[in-house]
Amino acid sequence: MNIDLHCHSSASDGLLAPEALAARAAGQGVTVLALTDHDEVTGLAEARQAAEERGIRFVDGVEISVNWGDTTIHVVGLQIDPRHPALSAGLETVRSSRARRAAKIGEALGAAGIPDSFAGALAYVGNPDVISRTHFARFLVQQGYARDVRSVFQHYLVRGKPGYVPHQWAALKDAVSWIRASGGVAVVAHPGRYKLSHHEMRTFLAEFKDCGGTGIEVVTGSHSPEQYGVYAKIARDFGLLASRGSDFHGAGESRAELGSLPPLPQDLKPVWHDW
Ligand code: AMP
Ligand code: MN
Ligand code: MN
Ligand code: MN
Repeated sequence: MNIDLHCHSSASDGLLAPEALAARAAGQGVTVLALTDHDEVTGLAEARQAAEERGIRFVDGVEISVNWGDTTIHVVGLQIDPRHPALSAGLETVRSSRARRAAKIGEALGAAGIPDSFAGALAYVGNPDVISRTHFARFLVQQGYARDVRSVFQHYLVRGKPGYVPHQWAALKDAVSWIRASGGVAVVAHPGRYKLSHHEMRTFLAEFKDCGGTGIEVVTGSHSPEQYGVYAKIARDFGLLASRGSDFHGAGESRAELGSLPPLPQDLKPVWHDW
């Protein structure tokens, strides 16, 4: 089994349409695939059909943007029902604030001497409801402000840099409750990416569990092999189910190819244990 439970299509900030993404997953030997677009579920039907035509078991997913204090955290929902009213209404609210935020990012970059980035980013958007920093990053690379998407983020789009604007996403308890209401399991995405101290991470995870969260990504394209060990231990300590996902956004842009990461440590209980 080759299970990849985190990736993005052009319904959010991935480069491939849902069908092309599923085809690529098949080519990479993926046997179980979840599409987890940011705050969006419109790619799922097309991805499911394309995946199932190729013998892949498809899992409906989503990656919800959440605030916890002043940290943005991503919570992946797996085995969700994309038509569930609480989930769709919640996601709709989160998405609807993205356009306003993008206009502010455009103004902030303008003030830093980079004109017309809002319109520029829009040209890279596959789904007008989900304009993200990734789309700004692609425009800035194309304009020659940095050599690749990763360095644009470092210099322009993260906290403390000219194009960063704070934003109000979903509350942790709301995101987890939408996922659970729709029949899904809530999983902390790429925990190693957040700038939290060990103590803050443990406080966060206790709160996440209190809200009904049950999983954590251990093997992800956002972790170093050393971090696989760190978060495997945390999964054990907190009794969380472990997940594995590439966080693939497109060839040349992502650290990990679909289905390419090592397996989970054997002793962990995988999030798919009862699927
Ligand atoms: P947004 O939801 O608009 O804040 O955009 C978040 C997305 O930006 C993430 O899902 C990644 O795809 C991308 N991203 C965030 N930080 C980085 C980074 N340091 N390098 C490359 N991409 C990043
Ligand atoms: Mn992304
Ligand atoms: Mn994420
Ligand atoms: Mn992601």
